[in-house]
Amino acid sequence: MLVLGIETTCDETAAAVIERAADGSGTIRSNIVRSQVDEHARFGGVVPEIAARAHVDLLDGIIERAMKEAGVGFAELSGVAAAAGPGLIGGVIVGLTTAKAIAMVHGTPLVAVNHLEAHALTPRLTDRLDFPYCLFLASGGHTQIVAVVGVGQYVRLGTTVDDAIGEAFDKVAKMLGLPYPGGPQVERAAGNGDAARFALPRPMLGRADANFSLSGLKTAVRNEASRIVPLEPQDISDLCASFQAAVLESTADRLSVGLKLFREQFGAPHALVAAGGVAANQAIRSALQDVADKAQTQLIMPPPALCTDNGAMIAWAGAERLALGLTDTMEAQPRARWLLDANATAPAGYSN
Ligand code: ATP
Ligand code: MG
Ligand code: FE
Repeated sequence: MLVLGIETTCDETAAAVIERAADGSGTIRSNIVRSQVDEHARFGGVVPEIAARAHVDLLDGIIERAMKEAGVGFAELSGVAAAAGPGLIGGVIVGLTTAKAIAMVHGTPLVAVNHLEAHALTPRLTDRLDFPYCLFLASGGHTQIVAVVGVGQYVRLGTTVDDAIGEAFDKVAKMLGLPYPGGPQVERAAGNGDAARFALPRPMLGRADANFSLSGLKTAVRNEASRIVPLEPQDISDLCASFQAAVLESTADRLSVGLKLFREQFGAPHALVAAGGVAANQAIRSALQDVADKAQTQLIMPPPALCTDNGAMIAWAGAERLALGLTDTMEAQPRARWLLDANATAPAGYSN
């Protein structure tokens, strides 16, 4: 089956066509991502109203390109999938409404995809992977360890109690004067830095639950930075390296607990899987390899371009749902918040 996927939940306007074979394997026929980084850079972060307007301006052309590059006509589509949340509501409305229009005009089945579910299922597009597996989802808005039991069946084993990891990278970048978006900048600076120079906290280390906390670490970076005047490039690199090392150590510890909880509830996972923008970080990728080796499970990570937001992941999640006969009606609603695990209760003070 051929599925068009549309992604507009944050600051990427993206569309893709994927093909899912009867044996469950997937092929990306096209994957067009237009990042709005330039539109938001001078504000130091994503401005929701600007993002929504940019999606309106860009989306038609991106879809046209995705269809053309795939060599597919609308009549050939088995489904049109859009990320219906969670995300910035203006952008979500643009993507979902556009998908509904295509569905209506061409009589194509509609799939309203949860953006987080799309991150969760992407490894099944790039690799042959059976359920259940253990997902580490680390992005700008989310940091979770999730047992992926089946399509639509997710059990959250751990989550951040404050900031997401990507958010912490972005905030650290901002406080050190590095340009937006911060994650890749911090990684680059850390490459020239001394990770041992600053003794930063390792949040949650040794705790029996699999939750994360990033805000204390972020504040510790701010405190160290405020003591150095003027802040020279080497100081920035050393702070980034020390911060990244603390994130790695905390993440490795949290994931090993998460994998233990997974085994207790679901038996051995088929893999540890990483998704979300933070999984584009090479240092995190190699730390995860160590965690997987210790837990005697394989590590699967989609290539970085499929870890950050893109249309192929939405199209693929749509195809997985379509294959099970799961479609949506024109009543499907855009959602700013949408828990992946319907039964999950958020830790106190945290609503994701
Ligand atoms: P969500 O998926 O939770 O709605 P999002 O879609 O904004 O959030 P993604 O696009 O998946 O998130 O990822 C973006 C985040 O990943 C940003 O916070 C960014 O800083 C972070 N990120 C990207 N590359 C790197 C990197 N190399 N190192 C660390 N963080 C990174
Ligand atoms: Mg983004
Ligand atoms: Fe995302």
